[in-house]
Amino acid sequence: MRFGDVEAYALSDGFFKLDGGAMFGIVPKPLWERRIPSDNRNRIRLGLNPLLVIAGGKRIIVETGIGAKYDPKTIDIYDIRHEPPLLESLAANGFSPEDIDFVVLTHLHFDHCGGNTGIGGSGKPVPVFPNAKHVVQAGEWRTALAPDTRSRASYLAENLVPLEEAGLVMMIDGEAEIAEGVRCVPTPGHTAFHQSVLVESRGERLFMFGDLVPTASHLDPAWVMGYDVNPIVTVKRKEDLLPRMLREGWTVYFEHDPNITFAKVESDGRRYTAKPVSD
Ligand SMILES: [Zn+2]
Repeated sequence: MRFGDVEAYALSDGFFKLDGGAMFGIVPKPLWERRIPSDNRNRIRLGLNPLLVIAGGKRIIVETGIGAKYDPKTIDIYDIRHEPPLLESLAANGFSPEDIDFVVLTHLHFDHCGGNTGIGGSGKPVPVFPNAKHVVQAGEWRTALAPDTRSRASYLAENLVPLEEAGLVMMIDGEAEIAEGVRCVPTPGHTAFHQSVLVESRGERLFMFGDLVPTASHLDPAWVMGYDVNPIVTVKRKEDLLPRMLREGWTVYFEHDPNITFAKVESDGRRYTAKPVSD
C-alpha cells in the first residue's frame, strides 16, 4: 500500500495461539467468543503480522514476529505455526535480511521480537538483521532486562542480548522520527513504555497499533487485554486516538489479527469496527 511517498507491506511470521480469556481481560467469554472462537484448550488463533515500511530510501521492519528458537513443548503450548516464516515473507516482497536498515520494536515481549535473533553456526543466538539498528524505547529495554515477576515469562534475553553485543540497539526516549514520515509514538498501557508507529506523508496516515489494539476485535476502548500492565491507560489512549482516526481517515494495521492487517476504522456511533483494505 502507498501512503503519500511511503510504501508499506504486510509481512507474516505465521500464526500462534494465546488464552482467549487473557486476550480479552474482563470481557466475558460469551461476548468475545462470538468474534474469535476458542479451541478445546480455550486458546484463540492470532496472526503474527510484522510490517515493512519503505520511506526516504530506508527499509524499516516493525516487529520481527515470534521467531523460531523454541522447544517442542513451547511450540505446542502456543501452537506456533510459521506459515510462512518471516524471512520467506520478506523474500516474497523482494528483500533479504541484509537489506533492512531499521527494526522498530513496539515492545519486547517474545511474540514481537522473537525474530530479532536466530540460532547461528555456533549454536548460539545471533542477530538476523545484521545491518539494522533496532529501535526501542530505553524504558522498555530496561524493563525487559530486569522484568518484574508478572512479566518475566514474556521477556527472553536471547532476543535482546545478542543485539547489544553486536552494537545494533538504538535507544530512544519518547517520540522519535526514524525516517522521513515514520515516527515512533509512545502508547503506554500494554507495557509502561509501549510504542506505536505513525506513518504520515502528503496528508495520508498509517498507524501500526502494536499491542495497543492487537486485533480488530479489540477496537472497542473497553476491550483490553488481561496482559496489560496498566489497562486504564490503554483505554484512555484508545479513547483519544479512535475519534481522530475516524475523522482523519487513518489506515490502521493490526499485528495479531488472524485475518485483517490494513483497515479503516468505522463507527455506527455505538461501536468501532474495522473495514479491511487490501494491500
Ligand atoms: Zn503481542
